[in-house]
Amino acid sequence: MTDCISLSHYIADRWVGGGEGRSLHSAIDGAVVAQMPGTADIAAILHHARTIGGPALRAMTFRERGQMLRALAGALTERKDELYALSSLTGATKGDSAFDIEGGIGTFFVYASKAKAMPDAHVLPESGRETISKGDFLGQHILTPLTGVAVHINAYNFPVWGMLEKLAPTLLAGMPAVVKPATVGGYLTEAAFRIIIESGVLPQGAVQLLLGDTGDLLDRLDGQDSVAFTGSANTANRLKAHPNVVGKTVRFAAEQDSLNASILGPDADEGTPEFDLFVKEVVREMTQKAGQKCTAIRRILVPGKSIDAVQSAVVARLARVTVGDPREGGTRLGALAGLAQRDDVIANVERLKTEANVVVGGTIPDLGDALAGGAYYDATLLRCNDPLGSEIVHSVEAFGPVATLMPYADVDEAIAIANAGQGSLALSIFSHDRAAIARLAIGTAPFHGRIMIVDRDNAEFATGHGAALPHLQHGGPGRAGGGAELGGVIGMMPYLQRSAIQGSNGMIEAIEGLRGHG
Ligand code: NAP
Repeated sequence: MTDCISLSHYIADRWVGGGEGRSLHSAIDGAVVAQMPGTADIAAILHHARTIGGPALRAMTFRERGQMLRALAGALTERKDELYALSSLTGATKGDSAFDIEGGIGTFFVYASKAKAMPDAHVLPESGRETISKGDFLGQHILTPLTGVAVHINAYNFPVWGMLEKLAPTLLAGMPAVVKPATVGGYLTEAAFRIIIESGVLPQGAVQLLLGDTGDLLDRLDGQDSVAFTGSANTANRLKAHPNVVGKTVRFAAEQDSLNASILGPDADEGTPEFDLFVKEVVREMTQKAGQKCTAIRRILVPGKSIDAVQSAVVARLARVTVGDPREGGTRLGALAGLAQRDDVIANVERLKTEANVVVGGTIPDLGDALAGGAYYDATLLRCNDPLGSEIVHSVEAFGPVATLMPYADVDEAIAIANAGQGSLALSIFSHDRAAIARLAIGTAPFHGRIMIVDRDNAEFATGHGAALPHLQHGGPGRAGGGAELGGVIGMMPYLQRSAIQGSNGMIEAIEGLRGHG
């Protein structure tokens, strides 16, 4: 890629480019690949979404909006090669790109399927009628779309999936969206967004693209708007405490830092299938997307008796991982998103080193002059021998190919260590012992949004520790932000209002069956 791409906002159904935005660099070699536009007209964006996009989407039924998602998924599929070409510039290998691109398109397909079970109407009933008196006077909870705008603030690690996984539930719910991608890698998001617009599938005003600075956006929101944020806890905490967000009760859902754990069961000694499956999964999680997955395994919990065997097996497997140019077929570990992101990883590994020792990695690979400007970092395994006496290994997320090995004495201790992350997106358990699995799952569930359990019998069908699925909730309590994305209707809840309707059955039926209003 030699040409520098001039990026544009998409505001009020027009591309708006020009101006002096910052340059974006290739993660492969540091070359300039794109130029950001100047600042956007925030008032115009919000006005258009509220007055044009919202009414157009609300005029459609849930099923019609589902068909729209299916058409969009088809349009993205047809032109996905364009996305793969740009994706490598973000440091992603072919496999990493598939995770981002196919994962995003797949989310649209699944939400389109979910819509088939929804009413061909404007109201989504929630469970059944409630008997609240002796006569024909009943209660029914219904869900309707908010009349404002959904603001999506995304992280840099999934330029395509990050946009699509938020758009699918939003559009199906019937809200217009403003997509604000992370600046790093924003050119890939812009390319995917362009395909959506050029498909001609969406009504006017349904989506807009805001690149770079958000200006006074948060000052202009109100209680009919909804912000969905993915990124660091620092930024999330700043934005959710914004006086106007608090004062107007603007909905704010956050997906943020998460110190996810994977637990090797007490039964899974060296030589068992679960031991091997665990080691393989740990290495995959450390290297896929160069470890830049919010769900990646950061803490590797193993029985104390097995820690040396696990360490040797992980080190041996990591030794076979080729680091380098993500465009090369043999590369397993590509580049981080940029040099600033690598600096963050280096700084956080230094913090982890105050409580853990580096077993392998912690270094920048020498890949020759051509790649010297790229953001490469070696896969890094640390070991902390006293996890319950430590704090940093449970709170500092090095957002790269970095994980820390730690021993536990028994199931109760494994639960205590996993929960020391103070709320995580994902946990996995590798065990063939049903009693241990049950205790681990129940003990860790209050601190985890998703728990994947793998043994020798289900491994070939398992979807992977780090894969957030459209069918299942993605989000975690506490440190992970307290949000809940995806999971079918669960992921639509930030964009829907629940109302309890009280009246006669016929009245409620009329509300549920209404068609053709704006
Ligand atoms: P970040 O600095 O918090 O940025 C996240 C998003 O917020 C970006 O789009 C950023 O835009 C935007 N932003 C920053 N300051 C803002 C402000 N004052 N007003 C409005 N928007 C603002 O996070 P990051 O460094 O890009 O992402 C890495 C972190 O994200 C990691 O720590 C990881 O844990 C977390 N993450 C979490 C999940 C999850 O689902 N839990 C997923 C992925 C990543 P600019 O890029 O333009 O600054």
